Amino acid sequence: MCGIIYHPKYLEYDLGDQHPFSPVRIEMVMDLLHEFGIEPEVETPEVVTPQQLEVIHEPEYIEVVEKAGRGETDTRFEKYGLGTADNPVKKGMAEAARYICGGTLLGARLLLENKYKKVLQMGGGFHHAQRNLASGFCLYNDLALAIKHMTENGWHVAYLDIDVHHGDGVQNIFYEDDKVMTLSLHESGEYLFPGTGWIYESGKGMGKSLKLNLPFEPFTEGESYIGILDELLESALGYYRPDALIVQAGADAHFSDPLADLLLTTQDYERIFKAVIQKADAYANGRVLFTFGGGYSFEATARIWSLLFFILVNSNIEEKLPETWLKKWEERLGVKIKETFHDPNPSYKQIPRKSEIENHNKDMLRRLLDIVMPDWF
Ligand SMILES: [Zn+2]
Repeated sequence: MCGIIYHPKYLEYDLGDQHPFSPVRIEMVMDLLHEFGIEPEVETPEVVTPQQLEVIHEPEYIEVVEKAGRGETDTRFEKYGLGTADNPVKKGMAEAARYICGGTLLGARLLLENKYKKVLQMGGGFHHAQRNLASGFCLYNDLALAIKHMTENGWHVAYLDIDVHHGDGVQNIFYEDDKVMTLSLHESGEYLFPGTGWIYESGKGMGKSLKLNLPFEPFTEGESYIGILDELLESALGYYRPDALIVQAGADAHFSDPLADLLLTTQDYERIFKAVIQKADAYANGRVLFTFGGGYSFEATARIWSLLFFILVNSNIEEKLPETWLKKWEERLGVKIKETFHDPNPSYKQIPRKSEIENHNKDMLRRLLDIVMPDWF
């Protein structure tokens, strides 16, 4: 059984009509399930209070974010990363972010209580939020809040970030913590925000060699990605054997994503999700909590996250998407949507430099393991 977490308040995390981190993506997934005749029984989270966030964020930062969310002004916005193109100030955003944090925190609780082994949080994944800085569309770090709750209850946690951007916020918050292993696979920071996530960022103090980063070359395709993910998880989780795995399942490594350059297909995502669940079964007591994250081709993102839902609830995937859903969202988004769940016949296969990219990625994995493994055994 898989627990599903959702609250309609998630849709109020809206940073403006032109902003890529749109709640429309969640709405599309919920609507697609509805059109398939599926009304999942959801676990409804409670909003977390600003005080509850103090285990992760500095009190003054929280105070300023809350002021911004109430529509008040403050001279400290700039200092805390607010009022930028990425993180504009919008009324209601702080409260909506706290509902989403409540959802991811609920996911941690449900695993701790052993109510479910698998949980899907239909939102969240704010991996760029730092202790005292809004960044990359993120205000409050829901992932860190959930991880912290687990470690405070004595668990060791592995965090896997497959969003195409480096999971810098989560990594930094637990950089010296031996109860948290972080693994981020992303497009190299040489080409992409936030510009970090190098193999040598491997942790410090008690956390040394427990923060793992795999920066991929642009135009990496599924075969190379999945081979490396598999070997990395096998080595890292096989060594660390966490009590649970938390996964930020950003969908922006899809080939159609407008903000990044990796070339994953929906078929690749299906293999990735299944491989991650299998590794959680083998090395993390079967416990895994998935959240959403980035994903800026709305139509691909909706298909990928719905795919994740169907895999987690062990349901068959109907290849043809419902006519009513296609029509409604084509009208609303003004784009053509694929008629099938999976990408029809991806045409990127003839990419130049394919083997050069693959070799570069393999070499990166070798170098990463050479850095961290001597400290593991
Ligand atoms: Zn991203």
